[in-house]
Amino acid sequence: MKPKIRLALAGLYHETNTFSSVPADYNTFSIFRGEEIEKEYGNSLTTNAGYLAISSSYDNVDVVPLNFAITGPIGTITKDAFDQIVGELIQYLEDQGPWDGILLSLHGAAVSEEYSDCDGEIAYRVRSLVGPDVPVGLSVDMHANISKKMVENTDVLTVYRTNPHLDAKKRSQECADLIVKTINGQIEPVMWLETPPMVINIVKQYTGDEPMRSIMSNLLAVLEKPGVIHASVAEGYPYADVPEMGMGFLTVVDSKEIGKDEANKTAREGAQWMATRAWAKRDDFNNDIPDPDQALLFADAQHNPGDAPIVLMDVGDNIGAGSSADSTHILAEAQRLGIEGYLQTLYDPASVQECIEAGVGSDVSLKVGGKTDHLHGSPISIEGKVRTLFNGKFEDHRPTHGGFQFYDGGLTAVVDTTDRHTIVLTSLRCGNTSLEQMYSAGVDPTKYRMVVAKGVVSPRPAYQPIAKEIILVNTPGVTTSDLEYFEYRRRRGSLFPFDRNADYLPSRQNQ
Ligand SMILES: [Zn+2]
Repeated sequence: MKPKIRLALAGLYHETNTFSSVPADYNTFSIFRGEEIEKEYGNSLTTNAGYLAISSSYDNVDVVPLNFAITGPIGTITKDAFDQIVGELIQYLEDQGPWDGILLSLHGAAVSEEYSDCDGEIAYRVRSLVGPDVPVGLSVDMHANISKKMVENTDVLTVYRTNPHLDAKKRSQECADLIVKTINGQIEPVMWLETPPMVINIVKQYTGDEPMRSIMSNLLAVLEKPGVIHASVAEGYPYADVPEMGMGFLTVVDSKEIGKDEANKTAREGAQWMATRAWAKRDDFNNDIPDPDQALLFADAQHNPGDAPIVLMDVGDNIGAGSSADSTHILAEAQRLGIEGYLQTLYDPASVQECIEAGVGSDVSLKVGGKTDHLHGSPISIEGKVRTLFNGKFEDHRPTHGGFQFYDGGLTAVVDTTDRHTIVLTSLRCGNTSLEQMYSAGVDPTKYRMVVAKGVVSPRPAYQPIAKEIILVNTPGVTTSDLEYFEYRRRRGSLFPFDRNADYLPSRQNQ
């Protein structure tokens, strides 16, 4: 009988928007331990699901879920939250070891008060505990700002290849599989990370379109090279103001197959080839989208009776990237321009309470949204009728961004306004990544002329199938595509597009 292989699964998953004013303190995290991880993610399409699934590919592999902490992409993780969560993670690893391998479930763009490279620090602490001989696998989000520290402290690192993220499970399963093969002595992975000094605009990160489409086909070409067992492109996360911010190109090569020297060379050449080709396209990654009034007028002219809705992406209020979820910039313009047949969500727990007090069917006069900060517009006066009240919990079994299954918008009220808008008011910040958010609240989004989805890419799997057209809108806010707006303090000094003269010289040394 083959000896049992025990793999630990643990993680802290957070995309940190360092410009957000909402700190990620301990209480903002949902923490799953042991069996709870399996219950929450076992049937999903997430990173954890891929890790858990590896035990069914082998008859001698046990994945032991330890702890997993996750919160929405809000601001910087407090020192206290990091210490408690990572302290517990390390404690579990220590108490329940020894391990044959470790599977880390991290986002890759986490920042704490103490560590700009939170994910690298976690990998480092895990490596320090288990030593160099226990393989460590890490699977991260495509928005990761991949660091040297993450690569140095892991044996295999994989990244999603789709944005919207539809392959999280597949990539973590590949990561786990390579870790098992490493444990079995079938492979000896070496990695190379290349980080040219470039940040790509969030509005150009959709992998289904150029320029990202050809960047991803370069990756497939690298996978064809002898010895290459995995390769990744990370788009980077431009709202985390850290030295690691930017694109990353990574290769994993089997040195057992082609020898150590040849493997290092192949890894370096593969990563640099991808990076050089992306660098050559750097001018194609700029922001070129319409303002709210232009977008609304265009959509109004495009839409004919009976058409599917035109979906307007509220880029500056990208809930999935750490925004407030209550931006009123597009709504204010829609009111001013007299746009009819308009639908959107707004995070506004106080207005939800007013609707609950008034009751279903009652007339209400509310000031909605724009309450978190001054960046996302001012509260807007609306008059209308409460159509439905709902507890805000919904489930989606269709493919959605990130592969999640369970959602919670908190207590939710639907208001139909006298100027023919429908506003879905939520009590929790919940992204527009699932149509069930609307259907569960008794709203059929296909019946509207225009639907606002707060985000850039993440709402696409849900909204593309019902949209006549998708228009990205250049709204102000903490996730605006206008990167000039932010005051960066910690990013690399010479970085494209901030520095138009930035230069990229592929290095001979592993960075
Ligand atoms: Zn992402």
